[in-house]
Amino acid sequence: MSTTLLYQSFGIRGYRQPRIEFTGGVTRFHVEPREKTVCCPMCGSRNVIRLGFKQREFRASPIGLKQTVVVAALPRVQCHDCGTVRQIKIDFAEIRRSYTKGWAKCALQLTRSITIKDVADLPGVTWDVIKEIKKKDLQRRFANPVAEGRPANHHR
Ligand SMILES: [Zn+2]
Repeated sequence: MSTTLLYQSFGIRGYRQPRIEFTGGVTRFHVEPREKTVCCPMCGSRNVIRLGFKQREFRASPIGLKQTVVVAALPRVQCHDCGTVRQIKIDFAEIRRSYTKGWAKCALQLTRSITIKDVADLPGVTWDVIKEIKKKDLQRRFANPVAEGRPANHHR
């Protein structure tokens, strides 16, 4: 997958995508940050050394009906400027979440046309995650009520 496609499909920028794996109906995109993406999560300095990495998985927007997962090799770095030792910052997912922002958007769209239960019934999706995404959206809309001018959802 080209880097443009990686960005367009998953909102992931600054990463290479060395391989794709197909297992049990799930497409897994392995990604690793490009050198310029590896910087201190606190001060942004690139004067860092890598201290190993952690592999994390993120649910990503489906391609067709195929469930897709982004497997990211995220380096931990030590900053020579501010002394921080931490995993690099990722911008394609919220902190401590195991799904991409793109997937959250996609799930939210679905809950507007089909019921939350229907979305939660999709393979690999859990009710808790959908509730959390809905809640966050409500908080966002509450904070900025003029942003939303759409008609009410229909429920089945
Ligand atoms: Zn730093």
